[in-house]
Amino acid sequence: LMHLTRKLIEVRSMLLSIDQSDALKLPSIVVIGSQSSGKSSVLEAIVGHEFLPKGSNMVTRRPIELTLIHTPDTQEEYGEFPALGLGRITDFSNIQRTLTDLNLAVPASDAVSNEPIDLRIYSPRVPDLTLIDLPGYIQIASMDQPESLKEKIAGLCEKYIREPNIVLAVCAADVDLANSPALRASRKVDPLGLRTIGVITKMDLVPPEQGATILSGNRYPLHLGYVGVVCKPSGKKARNESTALLARNGESDYFGSHREHFGGGSNLMVGTDTLRSRLMEVLESSMASSLHGITNAVQLELEEAQYQFKVQYNDRRISAESYVAETMDALKARFKEFTVQFRKPQIRAKLKAMLDDKVLNVLEQLYWSDKRAVELSALAADPKVKPENVEAYWKYKLDAASSLLTKSGVGRDSTLLVADGLRTLIDSIASGEPFNFHPRAAERLIQFSHMILRERIGITSDQVENCIKPYKYEADVDSREWEAGRTQAIELFERETEMCESKLKEISKRVGGSRRLSGLMGYVKTLEEKEKERKQKRLNGIEEEHAENAASVSEDEYRYPPAQVLDGRHAILCSDRLSILKLRLAALKSKRCKAGPENDVLCPEIFLNAVADKLAYTSAMFINIELLDHFFYQFPREIDSRLLYDLDRREIVEFARENPTVRRHLDLQERKDKLEEASSITCRCVKSLIKHYTSPTAR
Ligand code: GDP
Repeated sequence: LMHLTRKLIEVRSMLLSIDQSDALKLPSIVVIGSQSSGKSSVLEAIVGHEFLPKGSNMVTRRPIELTLIHTPDTQEEYGEFPALGLGRITDFSNIQRTLTDLNLAVPASDAVSNEPIDLRIYSPRVPDLTLIDLPGYIQIASMDQPESLKEKIAGLCEKYIREPNIVLAVCAADVDLANSPALRASRKVDPLGLRTIGVITKMDLVPPEQGATILSGNRYPLHLGYVGVVCKPSGKKARNESTALLARNGESDYFGSHREHFGGGSNLMVGTDTLRSRLMEVLESSMASSLHGITNAVQLELEEAQYQFKVQYNDRRISAESYVAETMDALKARFKEFTVQFRKPQIRAKLKAMLDDKVLNVLEQLYWSDKRAVELSALAADPKVKPENVEAYWKYKLDAASSLLTKSGVGRDSTLLVADGLRTLIDSIASGEPFNFHPRAAERLIQFSHMILRERIGITSDQVENCIKPYKYEADVDSREWEAGRTQAIELFERETEMCESKLKEISKRVGGSRRLSGLMGYVKTLEEKEKERKQKRLNGIEEEHAENAASVSEDEYRYPPAQVLDGRHAILCSDRLSILKLRLAALKSKRCKAGPENDVLCPEIFLNAVADKLAYTSAMFINIELLDHFFYQFPREIDSRLLYDLDRREIVEFARENPTVRRHLDLQERKDKLEEASSITCRCVKSLIKHYTSPTAR
């Protein structure tokens, strides 16, 4: 009948993959039977291969959804587990092993699982059928079986033997049908026996007349009847013969030798071949009667899916591939946008800020902590002083300061500063949308960008250090650079002044006003002097003799809480710093410092600033060549080679589905597509069914 079963089996698996709801279910044959009733033997006889798990304790623990696909144009026979992605399995003992593993994966404490195993078998020798093998009915609860196991299995069976499924009740001929749990279960859901087929196994174990009586079905009538089989291999197995073939021979031998009971005139159904064709007939007519309902149900679901797709996505289709490509393009674009922050002027400004800090450190070390610093300001203010006549002391100072600055590891520090900036940028991209949905890709992104950086950092910092080398020996400052250095030094000092002032204000507020602060500062100063005295005495070997004296000091220490004493110390530092800054700002703004680079000894800040500027300029240039250019060139290429081209089809889909928005979109789109296909198949089936029944030959 125009491959109805085959088409609808296709529709069935399509619908199962998008929906587990009963409304969309097409009938399947559910095999039930107690343990050792010969259930596995029957299934294997239908398939023609041994493939089910064996062993005394090896009951089926999960339902097996077995789809048989008849492939007339090929000799090849193979199985597939679509959920496992193992590909074609041509060796049936491999299928057996896989099923055993899947069964054993169910924890013994659970005993059975509701989750079905999807197995498809393609062969020219199988009919188009779907069979569901359920865990066998267990009669005797053994010690290690949980109490509830029997109930659990019964519950599972009941779920599967509901309409419109066909029940294949397997009973052994040598067990009274009245005791058959399979028939009992089927009667519960199908009391009239309208959709139950009985299979009587082990016909060879009872006398033929008794077997024939059972098959006639007079005692427990079933609308679809009983089929008797013998599935036990008889005789010795020859080298090249399959067990299935032997079983088949055994069966035909048995029924052949009892023709008087089972022959043509008896009207009884016997043999595996009869069982197969009976199953095909029954499934087909059941499919045909379900067709109308399923066609309507699919149509309704399809209309809903189409409506949702229109409303939610305006019919816009996406694919996992396009999502991945767009994501990578967006990543590159985003990165490019950010690289604006890494143009030369920006880098130069960043490096200059770092060098400003270094300049301040050098000044602090060499000038501000020097008691003679005041003298230097006085010299700068005196118009009679000629730079060339200034004491050698100040010349040495300037040389020391310049070398401290140029040898402070500018190459490494500036390279790391820029590399850190890049790292922060990448980290922020990796943690933002959409990479927050793709943790593994984000991890890789971070990994390879850090790797590019690691590779370049050493080279770059050496190169920068090399290029600033000349300044370590000699730094010439022309008058334009001098003036620029002066302006910058003034700015720097003004900023520093502001910072100190606000810090002082903050401390003053914290300790309770400026009067209290000056009291505190006075106190801390005496404390420090005393401390110095004590140190000096200890240095001179004079032991502290007056214990009370020491006690009075430590008592004194508690006049202010320790936190305030600390504030006091900071305040003293700030105000010292402020007075020196004030002094030096005046010098920087004086005629002397304005005059030009010949006054470098008297205005060291300007000189150091001008040198820092040169260092920043040179560093920025080489960092640009050695680090940034390389990084900007390599990064997009690494995205392609490590994030994009690395992915196979499955990984692309996985990646896309990590994003919940995309997943929902893909799900609905897939649902709509499958329903469209299912709908067109079912509609075609309905048409040809109508044609079939209305054609003159059918009548
Ligand atoms: P299951 O537990 O219901 O799957 O039953 P099996 O198919 O494993 O069969 C149980 C036992 O009965 C096995 O030892 C089979 O060899 C044997 N058996 C199955 N079918 C027949 C048959 O038709 N005749 C005889 N004599 N033994 C059979």
